[in-house]
Formats: sequence, C-alpha cells, structure tokens
Amino acid sequence: TTTSSSRISPPAAADRPPAASRLWHPFSSLGGTRASELTLVEGKGARVRDKDGNWYLDATAALWYANVGHGQAPIADAIAEQARRLAAYSTFGDMSNPAAAALAEQLADLAPSADPMVFFTSGGSDAVDTAVKMVRRFWTLRGEIDRSVIISRGLSYHGMHGHGTSLAGIAANNAGYGMAPDPEFVRVPHDDAGALRRVIDELGPSRVAAFFVEPIIGAGGVYPPPPGYLTEVAQICRSAGVLLVADEVVTGFGRTGDWFASASYGIEPDLLLFAKGVTSGYVPLGGVIADRGVWEVFADATAGAFRHGYTYSGHAVACAAALANLRLLVEQDLLARAAVLAEELAVRLPRLAELPGVREVRCAGLLGAIALDTVRDPALPERVVRQARAAGVLTRVINGDSVQLSPAFVLTDEQLGQLVDRLAEAITAADSVRTG
Ligand code: PLP
Repeated sequence: TTTSSSRISPPAAADRPPAASRLWHPFSSLGGTRASELTLVEGKGARVRDKDGNWYLDATAALWYANVGHGQAPIADAIAEQARRLAAYSTFGDMSNPAAAALAEQLADLAPSADPMVFFTSGGSDAVDTAVKMVRRFWTLRGEIDRSVIISRGLSYHGMHGHGTSLAGIAANNAGYGMAPDPEFVRVPHDDAGALRRVIDELGPSRVAAFFVEPIIGAGGVYPPPPGYLTEVAQICRSAGVLLVADEVVTGFGRTGDWFASASYGIEPDLLLFAKGVTSGYVPLGGVIADRGVWEVFADATAGAFRHGYTYSGHAVACAAALANLRLLVEQDLLARAAVLAEELAVRLPRLAELPGVREVRCAGLLGAIALDTVRDPALPERVVRQARAAGVLTRVINGDSVQLSPAFVLTDEQLGQLVDRLAEAITAADSVRTG
C-alpha cells in the first residue's frame, strides 16, 4: 500500500526527465516548455537574475506589472509588517481593515472620476468578470433588464475568466475551449469608433449594457488608440446611455505618465479596472473603481446585496503592499520618469523598423511592440525572444507576431539604450538564421 510518507519521497529519475519540474506553466505548451525552464531567483530594479547567476534586463517588467522595479525594500517591509499584525480577514458584509480602507481612499483620489467607490479583487481577470456582473446588475436594478449586451474591441485582452474570455478579441484564446460564440458579447474593430455607433444603432441602445475598452491595447500587440478615438467612443456611449468600462490593468499606475491612461486621453469611464501596477506585482491585487453614477444605484435602500466578491477581496497584505507601492511611485517621482522613458522609447524604437524581418513598431506611453514579418517567417518572433534571452534581455511574444516592451520605470538611460540595441542585434541574428 502507498503510505503518505512514500508519496512525498522524490520520484525515481526514470519517472520523468530529470530537468523537468512539475510546474504546469500558464500560456505554454506542456510538451515544449518543461525542458527549457528559466528559473529566476532575484531582482533588482529593471534586472533579474537566474539560478545560474546570469543577470537579464527585464524588458517587460514581468507581465507588464513591475512598475517600480524589482527588489524594492519598502514594499517588502510593508508586506512583512502587515502579515505579522494581521495578514487578512474577510471584507464581506460590513467587515473592514485599515489597509483596504486607506487604499480605497487613495485610489478614489487618484481616479479620473469624482467620488467613486472601490471594489477589490485578487487580480485583473477577477476585475473584468466583476465589472461584467456589476454592469448587468446595474441595469437590472435600473429596471432595464434587456440591457445585457457587452461590446468590446477586436485585439482586446480582458483576462481569462469566463466573461473575460468571451469579451476579448484575440481569437486564438477562444478557439477550442467550448466557448460557443455568445450573442451577448459583440466585438467591433479596435480602431473604428463609427463601428461602435453602428452596432449600438443596430442592436438598439436599450439592448447595450456597456462598452469595454483597453485605452491602449496591450496583450493584443500594443496598439495606441487612433487620435480622438477614445473621446469619440466616450461620447457615443454617453449619448446612448451605454456604460463605459476602461480596462486599465496594463495602463494604470504610471504607464502613460499619468496615474491612469483615461486621464491621459481625456475620458472619464463609469468603471475603471485595475490590477498589476497597483502593487507592482509584489502581491496579487485587482479591483474596480466605480463612478458615483454607478454605485449610487447599488446604494439605494431597495437594491439589496451585490452578491459577488472573492475570499481575498480587500486582503490586508495586498492592500498594504499597494499603499507602499503608491508611496514609492510618488516619492521616487516615477510617473515623471515613465513619461521621460516613454519619450525616449518613441525616439529609439522606430529605428528598429528599418531592420530586415521587422514589419512595424508601435509605442504609446512606456509600452512598445516590435511587429515581425511572420508571413515570410512564422518562427521569427520566438527565435528573436530566444536570441534576446541569450544576449541578456528577457521579453516575450504577444499576439503571435510582436515582441513586447514595457520596462520598469526605474530603468536607467543606459539600460534603455542597451535594451533597444540588444533587441536590434537579436532581430538581426534571428533573421539571418533563416536567410543564411
Ligand atoms: N485585463 C487586461 C487588459 C490585461 O492585460 C490582463 C492581464 O494581462 C487582465 C485583464 C487579466 O489580469 P490577470 O492576469 O491579473 O487576471
């Protein structure tokens, strides 16, 4: 018989290849990644070190989140202090904790709308699905139960929960998961405000609950909004009574030089979704900032409970980490630094468009993408990422053809130069393998 102690002894080497771990990596093919794992053990600023002692420039701030950079002691201290005092307790019903209350207050001050309320989640996908339910509940409470259709943009990414997967416009993420096309989720081309107007007209405004928008498309390939696009869609939503939901999971907390991209582009969304940069990823946290026009309906004496929330909504350690992170962004003047880096990126990155194998480059704020010619060479993006890794730069492929750039705001001028130069070299080397 198998005893519990024999179950925890290390498996015999013959059970599996020795180099492979039991870690099932997200967004990977299990067959392809187990032998090539890169194990990271330490980070400082815009650099990370692997278990063999090699340092890399982190071109992406991990998954777009390490805004203040790695290894910031004040955040680690805040986490430890809160964990020793009281790591977490429920915020369901009327329960609260000082960190969650203080963070909600600060986010309300930073938000691009007056007098909002803040609903905490464990991450960005949670925030998206919370927002879908909040929007539909809002219209139910308002007695407009037919307003259930949610519109989103092509190329958009809204996390991987059920509603978010249906919402998002990256086809490869939906195919083969039993997600039948849902007529309640409608997509419009990412750059065409007129298409939004037409869809709302066709469906009838009394059917449309909300329009979800990433101010800058992130995982879909870093597509900045066309000039005037965001103010136009905001106006279309206002005039049709459709709620505007800004998914700022990537763009929040300084990426555009402002606290939120909504402010940079002059829109005031009814709901604003955040995650990632709120803690710079030191601890998972996300949430929804709801404008007064939305939350007032929920505050009505007849509204009843919003029967939605997560075990870790308002988690004290996560909120303490966020408070320390926001303090660092202010004390180290990192929003201004992100704006300077964004300008520098906009000067340096376009030069890469001249390289063989590069189709175009795109940037907005401190976000960039190098789109490669995958028609000629479908494997080029992965080869570029491998080549960059060997040259000491960590990046990844987004939406099949583009290489991501979203460094921490603590990147030095010298590091920015190295980053762009090494990526250029990696592209040239990876492209020559095919042609040479
Ligand atoms: N929304 C956007 C715009 C994102 O980029 C992401 C993640 O990359 C999410 C939502 C989902 O966030 P999470 O992975 O924290 O669930």
